[in-house]
Amino acid sequence: MGTIPSDTIEQIAAANDIVEVIGSYFPVKRAGANFKALCPFHQEKTPSFHVSPQRQTFHCFGCGAGGSVFRFVMDYEHIDFPSAVRKLAARVGIPVIEERGPHGEDRQHEARRVLLRLHAEAAGWFHDNLLKKELAEPARNYLKKRGISAEIAKRWQLGFAPDEWDAFGSWARGRGYDARELIASGLVKTKDDADRAPDQTSNLKPQTSYDRFRGRIMFPICNDVGEVIAFSGRLLENEAESAKYINSPETPLFRKGNVLFGLDKTKRGLIEANCAIVCEGQLDLITLYEAGITNVVAPQGTAFTENQARLLKRFVDEVVLCFDADAAGNKAAERSLEALLQNDLIVRVAEMPAGEDPDSLVRREGKEKFEKRVAAARDFFDYWIEREVAIVDLSSLGAKMQLVRKLAGTVSRVHDPMMRGEIVSKVSARLGVATSDFENLVPRSVPRPTAELPRDMDSIAPSQTIKQLSVLALRDSEVRDFLLAQEWREVLAQTPGAELLGRILSADIHVEDSATVSSFLASLEPHEEAVVSGWIASKRIAYTDRNLAHEWWYSLAAESVRRQLEALKSKMRLPQLSQGDVVNLQKQILDLREQLHELSKLLSPAPVRDI
Ligand SMILES: [Zn+2]
Repeated sequence: MGTIPSDTIEQIAAANDIVEVIGSYFPVKRAGANFKALCPFHQEKTPSFHVSPQRQTFHCFGCGAGGSVFRFVMDYEHIDFPSAVRKLAARVGIPVIEERGPHGEDRQHEARRVLLRLHAEAAGWFHDNLLKKELAEPARNYLKKRGISAEIAKRWQLGFAPDEWDAFGSWARGRGYDARELIASGLVKTKDDADRAPDQTSNLKPQTSYDRFRGRIMFPICNDVGEVIAFSGRLLENEAESAKYINSPETPLFRKGNVLFGLDKTKRGLIEANCAIVCEGQLDLITLYEAGITNVVAPQGTAFTENQARLLKRFVDEVVLCFDADAAGNKAAERSLEALLQNDLIVRVAEMPAGEDPDSLVRREGKEKFEKRVAAARDFFDYWIEREVAIVDLSSLGAKMQLVRKLAGTVSRVHDPMMRGEIVSKVSARLGVATSDFENLVPRSVPRPTAELPRDMDSIAPSQTIKQLSVLALRDSEVRDFLLAQEWREVLAQTPGAELLGRILSADIHVEDSATVSSFLASLEPHEEAVVSGWIASKRIAYTDRNLAHEWWYSLAAESVRRQLEALKSKMRLPQLSQGDVVNLQKQILDLREQLHELSKLLSPAPVRDI
């Protein structure tokens, strides 16, 4: 994809008042010069979420979330930066024209756009079929039988693909899509596809290409901003020779293992509950959602992939697997486990009574009873131990040790030490083995790559002086101009924890134009953005006397010179210095002493205290 020019970003920031934008999601109350609300990013009873109309930033003193209007939309909607920019641009009617990337990238982007448009139009066509066409009568009846009203079908844009070889293909070609685009979408297959070519049972002559989905109820699969990127098609009747569900193949839009069905609609429910109910099929999910149980997801397939689990962890800390009580359901639960545990998700299992699935259960028992079942769901390890113990004869030592080893292997997937300790003591108690014996059997888990910062100068927390200078550099043009006139790059290079101040000074910021500040914040990493917005929002830091800025700066500069002097002095002690080296070093030391002397004249007699 191309990049969005920074002046467009500034224009969008300027046109979207942060108070109005946040106020469109939930109420904010005026409190002096600022606005306050209950923080949407953590649970709280008294508001610590502040929005500053003047600075156009938000900050939560409870959980530390904060940043520009873009950051808010990204975090609240769980979308990436370009999507947040486009969303805010659309809100105020600013066209976003991306700068052209390299040629290949550009073509790829264009192809993606065509595919997205094709999917959106296809969803509309399938949907129209379902609602209006005579041939969809059996599908309508089927959905009615499953408790899906026309209103629900509209909300989820359910559709119907006619049981014909080329109904979709000929409609799409009529809309101007060419064969290559249709094949790329996966909605149309070529005859050579190894999968399942038209067979002799058809009395129609097969085309060179034909529709993938025929005679199926169509469920649009959306990405997390709600754009249709694929379909899942379900047969009305169980036919022996066809799969009950088929999905779109992998396409440039659709990576099956990265998408959770329904997430675009259920993410608010997930965040609020901090728990995801996982069910197998799309119909299960829709029924639960429509019954008012909105914290639901369905993996596209039977087991969770690593990426799906990681995606889910962005919204919740706990999952409740609702799988059928049969053996296939158990297998699916087990295969999901590894990915879920590796992402430190707490896993519980709500067993469905034989012959029931979440869909039938919630329709028969109602919402409250279903919620009780979920609340009573057992910890996965309890459930699993019980099931294994039922099969294995624990009086046989060999069988018992085999089971212990198997469980130890699974426990090793748990990264969180607390969670792991708890499971270890539970499992060893249940199996009657010493905790230490069991622990010894648990293979050491593979460390996960972490995004930790290297322990260098920049991982040192900035001093109060640096924080105050940073805030002044963002809001006071006189101080900013003063700092920019100094040898700031040299000084900051010698100052621990000054990386962000350096970025603030090198950015193209006009302090009287808050849009340029928003645009700068948007260029930071999320954790940096939260840190800077925290400084801006902090009364202790922000309401400081600008007249002290010069003193602070000179003290930083003096400090950096002292640091260089120390370094040179230790160099002087190195053995094997040539005469020339020594002379050179002495000269540098004299220079630095001179600088320090000059600086001390600028500093008032009492050293500046770090507040
Ligand atoms: Zn918060």
